[in-house]
Amino acid sequence: MTTARPLAEGHELWKRVLDELRGRGVSQHLQGLLGQLRPVESEPGRLRLIAPNPFIRDWIEDNYGATLGDLLHSCAGDACALELLAEPPPHEAGQASSPPAPGLPAGLNPAYTFGNFVLGKSNELVFSAAQGVCQKPGEVNNPLFIYGDSGLGKTHVLHAIGNEILRLRHSARVRLINGEQFMNEYIAVTHAGNRTLEKREEFRYKYRKDCDVLLLDDIQLWRGSAVETRHEFFLTFNELYEGRKQIVITSDRPPHELPDIEERLKTRFQHGLLADIQPPAFETRLGILQKKAQSRKLTLPDDVASFVAERVRKNVRELEGALNRLIAVHDLTRVPITLEMAQQALRNVLPPPQVLNLDSILEESARYYGLPVDRLVRGGRQKRVAHARAVAMYLCRSLTSSSFPEIGAKFEKDHATVMYACRKIEALNESDPGVRREVSEIRSRLAS
Ligand code: ADP
Ligand code: MG
Repeated sequence: MTTARPLAEGHELWKRVLDELRGRGVSQHLQGLLGQLRPVESEPGRLRLIAPNPFIRDWIEDNYGATLGDLLHSCAGDACALELLAEPPPHEAGQASSPPAPGLPAGLNPAYTFGNFVLGKSNELVFSAAQGVCQKPGEVNNPLFIYGDSGLGKTHVLHAIGNEILRLRHSARVRLINGEQFMNEYIAVTHAGNRTLEKREEFRYKYRKDCDVLLLDDIQLWRGSAVETRHEFFLTFNELYEGRKQIVITSDRPPHELPDIEERLKTRFQHGLLADIQPPAFETRLGILQKKAQSRKLTLPDDVASFVAERVRKNVRELEGALNRLIAVHDLTRVPITLEMAQQALRNVLPPPQVLNLDSILEESARYYGLPVDRLVRGGRQKRVAHARAVAMYLCRSLTSSSFPEIGAKFEKDHATVMYACRKIEALNESDPGVRREVSEIRSRLAS
């Protein structure tokens, strides 16, 4: 009986929080999502809510965790901690060897598709390799080993491969699992006491026989002690590979930098296709922001999109986080998303702006026009060089707070020359689409 009271209180408290949010006019969409959280038993001073799956839990936690925490605090009138739990994803919920339910195949997140993956130079290799895998699973690019820093889209691509293969071949048996789950599952097998043999058979059936496509996310999560897991994976890998079953692996580093993977496995990875994914360039970041905004039924003003894309450079997850934060603040406060609102809402979460200095602008401009820096500065009046120099001066003036004399000192010219060049390019930037493109291309390279 001691736990019944906190549960009833939890319901009461959560209802108050939801009413409060409704009173603030938050969107139907958000209300619908939060409505899926259910209070479960917890100790006093804590509200424990369970989401129907980890995707929803993570999403709510990332975007609304802090806001909900604050609100809870004020509704409870006392210190009250919020804890978000999740029901296990479908593939852990005991449907291991039953055929996947339509639309919700084992372990795949339907929200990650190729259709909503924005292409750019930084990910085109991975994208085309992944497409090849979907067209001819097990035949080309096998194994496919995708690596790159965190937050650049590896998991997205991996799920997209699974979703696409199932779209093309409904009967394909696709298994997606991350390195840690694979390890935990195998450790549970080895600790099953007198049922170990039986469990091992089940495990092997699941990953070696009842599997046409194995998608293993984050293989770097295997730590030194997981010797048996690695051995089991080695055997699994061989059997699938010899049976011409497709294997795709992701990792935050290339195979040769994985400390805990044996040489023989690394060698096998090297025999397939290694594809790396890099941080996206400015244009791609803009594209991703707009795409994500669209999927949330929102048009992001251009200046807001540029502001966010210029500031968040290295990680798409953070880019999306910034967008989600804008939407969350908008939902809660009803303030329209403008540049000013974005600067305010994101002031504590964005990395500091990259400092552009005259040297970096000079270098980037010289590279763009295919000239050595020295030639850009001192190359005389030849038309092409003079034009490049004028654009560089204009960029120095518009992107930094340097004065004409300061810029003049850098270019070894007097301040009147700089002023004349800046005015000229400023006018051309309005009237000449060719010049406008040059200016914007150099700007976006500087922002990458
Ligand atoms: P990783 O697995 O490399 O850490 P994720 O696949 O989890 O990264 O990507 C982080 C977030 O960024 C996801 O929400 C994903 O949808 C998004 N994302 C990454 N790259 C792209 C892209 N090119 N287009 C659209 N969304 C992307
Ligand atoms: Mg990932």
